[in-house]
Amino acid sequence: MAAKRGTDWFWAVVVIVTVIGMTAWDSYSLVVDRRSEAVERLDALSRVVEARVGQTIRSLDFLLADAAAEFKPTYRPGDSDYNRFLTTRARFEPAALTITITTPDGTITHSTNASLVGKNVGARSYLDFFRANPSSDLLFVSEPVTSLLSRTVIFAARAKRDEKGHVQAIFVSALSPSLFSGIVEAALPSEASGAISVTNRDHTVLARAPSMDGAPIGRSLAKVPLRVAHLASGKQASIQEGVGGIDGKVRLIALRTIEPWGMVIGVSATRADILRPVLPRLIGNVAVALMVIAFAVALVRVRGSREKSRQLAQEQVLKARDYYMQVLDEMPTLVRRQDSNGQCQYVNATWTAFTGHPSTDALDQGWLEAVHPDDRAGLAKGGEHEYRLARNDGSYAWIHEVARPLRDQDGQPAGSLASGIDITESRQFQEKLQQSNAELEEFAYVASHDMREPLRMINSYMGLIERRMGTELSDEIKEFIAFARDGAQRMDRLIQDLLQYSRIGRMSAQRGMVDLNLCLDQAKNLLELAMAEQNATIVAGPLPTLFASADDMVRLFQNLIANAIKYRQPGVPPCIEIAAQRQTGAWCISVSDNGIGISREFYDRIFRIFQRLHGRDEHGGGSGIGLSICKKIVESHGGRIWVDSAGPNQGAVFSFTLPA
Ligand code: ADP
Repeated sequence: MAAKRGTDWFWAVVVIVTVIGMTAWDSYSLVVDRRSEAVERLDALSRVVEARVGQTIRSLDFLLADAAAEFKPTYRPGDSDYNRFLTTRARFEPAALTITITTPDGTITHSTNASLVGKNVGARSYLDFFRANPSSDLLFVSEPVTSLLSRTVIFAARAKRDEKGHVQAIFVSALSPSLFSGIVEAALPSEASGAISVTNRDHTVLARAPSMDGAPIGRSLAKVPLRVAHLASGKQASIQEGVGGIDGKVRLIALRTIEPWGMVIGVSATRADILRPVLPRLIGNVAVALMVIAFAVALVRVRGSREKSRQLAQEQVLKARDYYMQVLDEMPTLVRRQDSNGQCQYVNATWTAFTGHPSTDALDQGWLEAVHPDDRAGLAKGGEHEYRLARNDGSYAWIHEVARPLRDQDGQPAGSLASGIDITESRQFQEKLQQSNAELEEFAYVASHDMREPLRMINSYMGLIERRMGTELSDEIKEFIAFARDGAQRMDRLIQDLLQYSRIGRMSAQRGMVDLNLCLDQAKNLLELAMAEQNATIVAGPLPTLFASADDMVRLFQNLIANAIKYRQPGVPPCIEIAAQRQTGAWCISVSDNGIGISREFYDRIFRIFQRLHGRDEHGGGSGIGLSICKKIVESHGGRIWVDSAGPNQGAVFSFTLPA
């Protein structure tokens, strides 16, 4: 079982690991796909911004290059022709707010805004740049600054040199910062956190979208790790991931340097925003994985607990089996179990001890060895038997055995269980009893038969005395003689009844199939006179035919009907009902009357011999032997007799059973 549980857990772990692996792989692919899609999009947007910013810068560069080409060092400051040229040229470049030419030290010599001529621009980064890079032929783009006209502007500047390479003049165009803002705003990524920044060569922010409070315009991003990494990559375009320089959130950023001016475009969105669309699927994946894991664990547990309870039940069954086997072994009866083919499968310890045969010898047909050869037939069929079984000392014992069919759990026949007891002693006792009963009955018969002779003598001599002495006898002596004769007659009747009683069974007609309807008719014929006298009626249902002694049955009905007439209620004609009812293995016959009834306390007593409930002269007298005869008849036929009564004057019902 432990091995089975181990296997269950092994497969559960395999399923769990597979599910986790698949979920992790799917989630990883989702994130990677989403990330690379975002990278492509950010990079494409950075390309667009690069193109548009580059175009603007290139166009300004042309403008300033044109202005430089047209410029002659001989022009006086504020030269009107040149100024006109500048003004006309500036019209073609809407990005340029002003075009101004300064000396290397910053004095304005020409400007589209004439009022500026002669003024010094002061400390400007482009002056510093050209001072530091005297040979640079590039357009310089400054940080946003406040112009002389008090506007926030960005300067684009390039220098003109003489043959010796000395800076002759610096050509500066002021640009509105909104120039870049317009470009970046149009290219914003779709994420809520999407942002684009444009910086100049010094990494100072020139434009940012979306615009923020405390705008980062003018802030330097030179030290932001993402930018440092971009520069370190040495590539013109790179993708970086990390904490952004402006809002401090983890961002995915496409950085692109606009060559040759060193401006940098950064198009970014936070990682959280980029991955947000795949979040529901990630959660779904995790939920499905957790469900599968929980299911796998629950399944293993349920299987485990089922297996446990199955094993427990099995143990209990085994324990119960052991217990009952022990009970069977300890039982003082001889127990034998047979399969449905009559083959012995088991004998208990009592059987082996009794016969001295080991239990293995008793299997199949082996147990029959111990049975007396004359008694073996039919034993394996089951049912009730009496047979002789050899004891371990070789003597035979009489066994009374009852075999009952067994059924398996599905209710199918599964052989039988026979249990037997040693009845040797009771059988011997019964035999002795039967013998002594027979002797006793013989004695009673002979005695009563012989006793009638002296009675007859008393009777006849009394009659002789009466006749001889005739008139000489006083009335008193006549009365005495009458008492003596009456006593002798009653004694004779008693002896006759006793004789009848002792004859039942011994002298009864041989048993055969007897129609009780005919027996009843005979009984009625015998009682015809009494019935007519008392105006009695008998209603009888159909009665069965069964195995019995015919004259016993007639006597049985005769006694019961005679009693029903005898114990009638004064002035009420007896009405007797006789009915038969089928029972398992027997018929139950009842004789009901409407007579004086019987109190419950006398139910047993009336069946005893010579027991009467009334005085000698009441209800026509009687010897108290009629119901004892009925009892003896019924019991000798293997039945039972009893009485029921609702009480005095409620009638009585005498019922008896006869096996059939
Ligand atoms: P006997 O009739 O000779 O007295 P029985 O053995 O026939 O003797 O009856 C015993 C007693 O049972 C009777 O004395 C009577 O009191 C009572 N007995 C018998 N049959 C009936 C009956 N049908 N109704 C009421 N009492 C009865």
